[in-house]
Amino acid sequence: MAEHKGVVLVTGGAQGMGASHSEALGKAGWHVCVADVKDTAPTVHTIQTQGGSASGHRLDVVDSEAWNALAAHIKSEFGGLAGLVNNAGVSYRHGISDTDDANWHKVIGVNLNGVFFGMRAMAPLMRDSGGGSIINISSISGQLGYHGAAYGASKWGVRGLTKSAAGEYAPWGIRTNSIHPGLIDTPMVSNADAFVASSLESIPFGRAGTPAEISAAVVFLMSPESSYLNGSELTIDGGLIAAGTYWRIRHEAAQRSKGGDL
Ligand code: NAD
Repeated sequence: MAEHKGVVLVTGGAQGMGASHSEALGKAGWHVCVADVKDTAPTVHTIQTQGGSASGHRLDVVDSEAWNALAAHIKSEFGGLAGLVNNAGVSYRHGISDTDDANWHKVIGVNLNGVFFGMRAMAPLMRDSGGGSIINISSISGQLGYHGAAYGASKWGVRGLTKSAAGEYAPWGIRTNSIHPGLIDTPMVSNADAFVASSLESIPFGRAGTPAEISAAVVFLMSPESSYLNGSELTIDGGLIAAGTYWRIRHEAAQRSKGGDL
């Protein structure tokens, strides 16, 4: 195994942003435990070919017993854990009336219960390893009203859980923060052309973000450089939340007034 500065775990690391976070953390010198229900071998291989250290782990984040087993495995295999990135998630873009019980439970199960089970299983190991950093991937849909009701509720839940953990785990030397990506170019949005095209009209930068632009924040929050960040939320969305509404209104008004004064 290559030299590393500590062990971190990334869920949903087989593709999309999770793969990007895993690779960036590997480059930053961490041993990355890449966990997913999908095949993690390609991500592990990429990290290793870049000179980093990584291992693949099958984990369904809705399974609390599997979380406990993985915590025991990491303890026996690596001796401890310095960081956890709760990134695994599923998308669901339907309103309350169109959400049946099964879809509600699925979205809440992966996106919210998964984060809860993950922190509960891993935080004691992190405490016993001298503390560290938990990074929960929420969304801007956890900061405003989102048309996908179950998804929005799950991401608001992640934001709230993060605040609870920030207090509970601070005495253990663990910092807990949430990241709120806007529209990011990953497989999650690759089948949603109309949604993406319309979203771009509310993003002042006029483009989707890249996974690497989120991974840079993950690397920062994992590093000791962020030692006083706890319970914070980092919105990374090209200005959508802060200025997107009036940016869009301004452009639509200009079209309505046919170039006249707004
Ligand atoms: P993605 O669909 O490309 O990847 C998600 C990964 O999570 C996949 O590898 C998948 O196998 C894994 N996963 C799903 N269910 C799992 C389970 N039960 N157990 C373990 N792994 C599981 O998605 P992405 O765009 O990379 O999203 C990553 C995170 O970022 C998610 O939490 C998502 O909600 C969030 N997010 C995405 C966007 C976006 O625009 N793409 C915006 C805001 C937030």
